Amino acid sequence: MELLREMVLTDGKVYDNNVLKVDSFLNHQIDADLMLKMAETLRDYFKDKEVTKILTIEASGIAPAIMVANLFKVPMVFAKKSKPSTLKNNDIYEAQVHSYTKNITNTIVVSNKFINRDDKVLIIDDFLANGQATLGLMQIVEQAGASLVGVGILIEKSFQSGRHLLEERGINVCSLCRIASLENNKVTFNIADDER
Ligand code: 5GP
Repeated sequence: MELLREMVLTDGKVYDNNVLKVDSFLNHQIDADLMLKMAETLRDYFKDKEVTKILTIEASGIAPAIMVANLFKVPMVFAKKSKPSTLKNNDIYEAQVHSYTKNITNTIVVSNKFINRDDKVLIIDDFLANGQATLGLMQIVEQAGASLVGVGILIEKSFQSGRHLLEERGINVCSLCRIASLENNKVTFNIADDER
């Protein structure tokens, strides 16, 4: 997506050759107009999939996920990174997720009231790096007995293993912007790919 690429180039900052900071428009201060355009692109890509629920993980997945959910007119559910005291063990789906940027492992939790076997779930997240967040969300979909229709990502770091891990499981992945490298703290995009 050309507009997103431009924002990454003008406003993104690269750290340690592998982390892209986009907090001025994507995950701290949020450009709502850009977010809506990205959500529309993801909606268009998955529009024939009869999506019944959008699933993401707090915190930075929530903004894109709620915009996509609004366009599909379905609920958005986000996995919490700690278990609320009001939820009992029998009432939850849970999975372990290792955070690449923070180097910690969280147990992510979703109430079993909000996803069930009839759901067709679309996972949305801001970044795809090593795929750990998405794999954790996929475990939750599996525990619910629901079906996964695909994964929509704003920024994919194609030099990490996430896309490969998802594709070898047969998952339909749509990334709006694919980054081939952050070496020398410089953003290089994939030249030819299926990005939208
Ligand atoms: P993964 O689980 O695919 O390794 O990483 C995805 C999660 O890590 C995303 O939810 C995102 O919050 C965070 N993340 C991974 N790489 C980056 C990055 O380069 N920049 C930012 N801002 N977040 C990242």
